[in-house]
Amino acid sequence: MRPLLLPALPRLWRDATTLQLGADPDRAVVLTAVDAGVASFLTSLDGRRTLPDVVAAPPAGLARTTAEALITALIARGAVVDADALTPRVEPDADAALPPLPPALASALLTHGAHAVDRMAARRRAHVLVRCRGRVGPVVAALLAAGGVGRVVVSGTGVATPDDVTVGGLGPDDIGRPYVLAAIDAARRASPAVDTRPGGGPPDFVVLAAGPLPPPGDQVRWTSAGVPHLPVLLRDGVAIVGPLVVPGRTACLTCVDQHRRDRDPAWPVLAAQLATDRRPEPAEAIVVSTAAALAAAEVTGYLEGAVTSAVGVSLEVGPPGVPLRHRSWTPHPRCDCLHSADAATPDGFAESARQ
Ligand SMILES: [Zn+2]
Repeated sequence: MRPLLLPALPRLWRDATTLQLGADPDRAVVLTAVDAGVASFLTSLDGRRTLPDVVAAPPAGLARTTAEALITALIARGAVVDADALTPRVEPDADAALPPLPPALASALLTHGAHAVDRMAARRRAHVLVRCRGRVGPVVAALLAAGGVGRVVVSGTGVATPDDVTVGGLGPDDIGRPYVLAAIDAARRASPAVDTRPGGGPPDFVVLAAGPLPPPGDQVRWTSAGVPHLPVLLRDGVAIVGPLVVPGRTACLTCVDQHRRDRDPAWPVLAAQLATDRRPEPAEAIVVSTAAALAAAEVTGYLEGAVTSAVGVSLEVGPPGVPLRHRSWTPHPRCDCLHSADAATPDGFAESARQ
């Protein structure tokens, strides 16, 4: 182990001898009686030396037992992690400074401590398919790529139009280009290392960024295939993120449809028209960006194994001044999705990538 005191953790002096590491009132670590020896010892925790080397030669005035107790406490509180476990790996070169940590990893370390390494690895291993139409899908793809998701495959059809342009997604220069190529470029701008090649087996997760409603086939396809999925819809000026569907465990999109049908018998007729409505999406850029960020956070959280906000819940993002709205969805008694989900590999994934 090469102990590293988290570089992004603020060092805040409460008084001349009391040092607070971190600003979060629940997670901050407060060290008392901090003298020059302790301060120097903390500075030495830069990820370049091994733990035995660090405690074997503490700064003058600091007892070895004190150094050992201090570093044990800091590791237990998540303020010190093993630099060898980080990506990119820190080479044991005493003359080299620690390279800057990627923002996603630095942030995850502050929240999850040593567990951040496993969570980021889960992102890198993941394959997410973003089925795009309009503005929001390319932004989701870009945010997933920026967050370290290893493989982000984008699907879409047609040619990019001015209605597809938004902050962080397709740009003005993309107008007239094949939509899917422009969306792939948005992801690559966010992270040149991201793998955007289609095919290669089923995705671990699917984002349905599909305009006002997901295509009817997608409502059952991914549930039947056992692939978790998340709709990100734009209609009536509002973005609807969710529910995140975990096939066999939570309400599916057919359940949502059935609940709406209970409240409005004409819903299937209306839904069929909505699904083919090709008018420009009405939501403003702030709503699009907020929805895309929420969706990307839900996906990455799910991939890391976290319990996320949109499992069984849709989050509705309205224009500025309209509070975020949560709507819970329960499995519908007329839907058998909790019994029919099949984790078997579905057919046609390679073909789906550019549809
Ligand atoms: Zn269902």
